[in-house]
Amino acid sequence: MNEQTRKKILQSTPHPKGIRKVDRKRLLAQLSQADPPPDYDRYMRSKSWQIKRQKFLAHYNCQCVLCGSKEHLHVHHLHYKTLGNEGVEDVIVCCRRCHFIEHFKKS
Ligand SMILES: [Zn+2]
Ligand SMILES: [Zn+2]
Repeated sequence: MNEQTRKKILQSTPHPKGIRKVDRKRLLAQLSQADPPPDYDRYMRSKSWQIKRQKFLAHYNCQCVLCGSKEHLHVHHLHYKTLGNEGVEDVIVCCRRCHFIEHFKKS
């Protein structure tokens, strides 16, 4: 993706409201360039992940850290280094729309 397309997408993301805990620019810069490991899908379906996921959603006030939406939330891994043992700093909560943008950005 070229710089211009990237800028366009970033500008089209609604400005976050009432979110001060996270620095959006830093988050965007930090998002993983790595592909998920082969057992990622299995882990996503596991009971232990389901429990952790709820914890992460609660930690981020059940809202998208990028746009503040409270609908269609996903827990997105910033990197996969701590997969299975991740903490709140290893993930972000984002809505389906922003999540799609994050993954689209990589290609
Ligand atoms: Zn993701
Ligand atoms: Zn969002």
